Amino acid sequence: MLKFKVKEIQKGLFMLTDPLEVNLFLIVGEEKALLFDTGYGFVNTPTAIKEITDKPVTVILGHGHLDHANGAYQFDEVYLREPDFDLCREHTGSKFRKMLVDRLEETGQKLDVDPETWINSGECNLIPLEVGTIFDLGGLHVEVIDMAGHTGGSIGLLIKEIKILLDSDSANSHCWMFMPQSLGINEYVTMLERVKNLDFDTFYTAHQDFPHDKSFFDKYISVAKNVTMENSTPYGNDNWKELEPRVYSEGDISIVINERVISMV
Ligand SMILES: [Zn+2]
Repeated sequence: MLKFKVKEIQKGLFMLTDPLEVNLFLIVGEEKALLFDTGYGFVNTPTAIKEITDKPVTVILGHGHLDHANGAYQFDEVYLREPDFDLCREHTGSKFRKMLVDRLEETGQKLDVDPETWINSGECNLIPLEVGTIFDLGGLHVEVIDMAGHTGGSIGLLIKEIKILLDSDSANSHCWMFMPQSLGINEYVTMLERVKNLDFDTFYTAHQDFPHDKSFFDKYISVAKNVTMENSTPYGNDNWKELEPRVYSEGDISIVINERVISMV
């Protein structure tokens, strides 16, 4: 049976890593719980959550990409910023899901449910999420932070009492800023500079399993400010070659861009 790897990062905050290595986060307060992102949707997520808590769970997507949104179908409703609604519907559609079943099988794993049913399970009921909303879980307050850049609807969640930011793909050490949904590079830099000033010490992303010190934001700002078409090199990822992505690195931090996002002002 497919399962998450579950790690309690600290009291009330769990990281759930799915079979293709994307992280979901479960925040458990005294009265309620909140799930951030739903992963690829291979694992029975409501059952996995029940093994951790029986408190009512609100589900929020950090953005609309397939590796974060495909598990949404397992819930009655999920919150997402409206700019990512169309993207989410496309990425949870049968074309992308079919590809994911193949990718899972390439790793020697198999779905527990009928593949045809899974491929056609869609996105579920999307509820518009507003920036600035604060979810009171009982002893933990979680604020929705605008982190548009990677996609127009990307957010982060700031857990105020423990000063931790969860950021999906919105800011990470290998940020894909070449996607058709990505905003211009200048907007991305402005967002990073704004979020850096918020009251948090540590952040977690969906594709790395360790805590990041806030100072990583300075590195992300530096690569985003310094990247050009000239100092970047072709990005060898055949799945996206029609978008002509290029990669630029400073130490272990990199950013993937293309002509479109570099030239947007
Ligand atoms: Zn993404």
